[in-house]
Amino acid sequence: EAKRRGKNTCVHYSDEMGARIADEAELVRELGTAVDADEFMLLYQPIVRLDDLRMTGVEALIRWNHPTRGLVSPDDFIPLAERSGHIVSIGAWALREATRQAACWRAEYPAADHLTVNVNVAGRQLRTSGFVDEVAAALSDAGLPASNLSIEVTETAVLDDEESAEAMLRLRGLGIRLALDDFGTAASSLGLLLTVPVTTLKLDRSFVESITTAGRPRAVATAVSQMATALEFSSVAEGIETDEQREMIHSLGYQYGQGYLFGRPLPAGEVGDRLAAMSHTPVA
Ligand code: C2E
Ligand code: MG
Ligand code: MG
Ligand code: MG
Repeated sequence: EAKRRGKNTCVHYSDEMGARIADEAELVRELGTAVDADEFMLLYQPIVRLDDLRMTGVEALIRWNHPTRGLVSPDDFIPLAERSGHIVSIGAWALREATRQAACWRAEYPAADHLTVNVNVAGRQLRTSGFVDEVAAALSDAGLPASNLSIEVTETAVLDDEESAEAMLRLRGLGIRLALDDFGTAASSLGLLLTVPVTTLKLDRSFVESITTAGRPRAVATAVSQMATALEFSSVAEGIETDEQREMIHSLGYQYGQGYLFGRPLPAGEVGDRLAAMSHTPVA
């Protein structure tokens, strides 16, 4: 019986595999036309300073408003976009849209003067020649100061790679901030911190999840915070969902936090509402 079930499972599995592959090929084709069809949108998740919970930045998070599939999450299409190369045009769109939006907020709300907009950039995008020029053009077309932009890359995207290291140096030269995203999850090489000119470490949310109990995740989170301080990097903890997690993360020395506790990824208009409220409230 077990053997038969195993066999059936196997047949079923390969059927599913076939369906999945066909589905992927179709998705890849659709990814190729989605930018021109205006199917992407950005949501913005607040990043707050943990000392006073003031919103100091937002992270732009892409959504695909697919005509028949509905809202597709980035985890379901960004890897495909990277493999197929479509990430280059999708990423360029995201960068232009986020910088344009940040410039609008700055024009409208005094509280947005120093608001940082974080944009995720894939390794493949970072290594594309002309990427840095594209970023510079996006900033100048939008009229956004470089200091209002932060670019997020993952460790794997920049691991042992001269092209991306050079691109990052040039981005820093423009005055753009650079964050290492999901820090601690990949095959992290601490040597990376010596060669890559980052300004910010973003502790992955997997460490925050169990931060309220003593254990290895908390020990790693502590070490990352101490390392950030010693290296004079900013530190952000992702995925804060409860007050207990916020308190622990703050007590470990993290400067900034991001997570559902402070806000879900929001449409631009709702970020505007928050900025409007902040603009009427003097800084404590
Ligand atoms: P990420 O850059 O690490 O973004 C954080 C993810 O964690 C977001 O998922 C966010 O919605 C989610 N998150 C934030 N706070 C919490 C929390 O308190 N609890 C939980 N459970 N989750 C939280 P999202 O929006 O689905 O994005 C997933 C990933 O897709 C991002 O991870 C990023 O790697 C990628 N991505 C998103 N937008 C872009 C983009 O424009 N370009 C590229 N290359 N990648 C993108
Ligand atoms: Mg990110
Ligand atoms: Mg992250
Ligand atoms: Mg992540």
